[in-house]
Amino acid sequence: MAREIRRIGVIGAGTMGTGIAQAFAASSFSVVLRDIAQPALDHGVATVKNSLGRLVAREKMTQDDSDAALARIAATTAIEELRDCDVVVEAVLEKFEVKKAVIADLERVCGPETIFASNTSSISLTRIAATSQHPGRVIGMHFFNPVPMMQLVEVIRALQTSDEVCAAVVALVGTIGKQARVSRDSYGFVVNRVLVPMINEAINCVYENVAKPEDVDSMMKLGAAHPMGPLSLGDLIGLDIVLNVMETLYEGFNDPKFRPSPLLRQMCDAGYLGRKSGRGFFEYPAKS
Ligand code: NAD
Repeated sequence: MAREIRRIGVIGAGTMGTGIAQAFAASSFSVVLRDIAQPALDHGVATVKNSLGRLVAREKMTQDDSDAALARIAATTAIEELRDCDVVVEAVLEKFEVKKAVIADLERVCGPETIFASNTSSISLTRIAATSQHPGRVIGMHFFNPVPMMQLVEVIRALQTSDEVCAAVVALVGTIGKQARVSRDSYGFVVNRVLVPMINEAINCVYENVAKPEDVDSMMKLGAAHPMGPLSLGDLIGLDIVLNVMETLYEGFNDPKFRPSPLLRQMCDAGYLGRKSGRGFFEYPAKS
């Protein structure tokens, strides 16, 4: 019999955790949002409120539905509040030791049936699952930023993930109006493994003076029908994150085809990280 999922725990009230909490609450799940820092929780709840407010303003949601969604999110710093959750999605810092500690905390308070999902972008799910006493319940749910807008959730099977847990998570993704696609645990999974080396190669074109940044971008828009050029996309993602993904691929596969562009490293060393620093391959003047 398919398992019933009603209550979702989300750990980490940062960029991704708040988006994930919103996506579940807007689809009638009761959500417990947990962070270690009260200011992060306050900021996270305010972010969800603003995001729902924008949907109401654009007539994508009624005020009543928005109020009800917000009321379904209980924000807490207490790990014990996650005890009755059927699924817990962690979206804490991208550090293995922090994720390992979160799993250990959850194992103290949740029953053996609770599914533990990780939103990691680059850490091996198999390695995360190996820290659990019930590794078959551990799986990757890789949401994309901004979560309320993006359709895909990459569902990543650790070597240990059970078929039943994978099927339950795929079905769960459908209930929040998103599309699940399953992949095996592998460096960069699928989207980052394909997308980020393309951005890196666009950076190499600039590094080798093949073309100017604006021309590289317009060529990919005009010739490959990309909605945004790869360098603008790199600036949007953050060049430090682009470098981090390239390093994960390069070191993980031990393959020179994933070598980070020297110019990418220099941009990061210079603090030219893209939109978030006001300058990357293009300039982003601060809004007054
Ligand atoms: P973030 O820095 O915005 O938020 C992390 C939050 O986790 C912070 O509020 C912090 O207080 C909290 N936290 C840290 N340790 C904790 C603990 N032990 N228990 C509870 N809360 C804790 O990070 P983010 O950008 O939301 O990324 C979170 C995860 O999602 C990472 O694994 C990242 O790789 C992944 N991810 C990020 C993106 C993105 O575009 N930002 C996209 C996909 C996946």
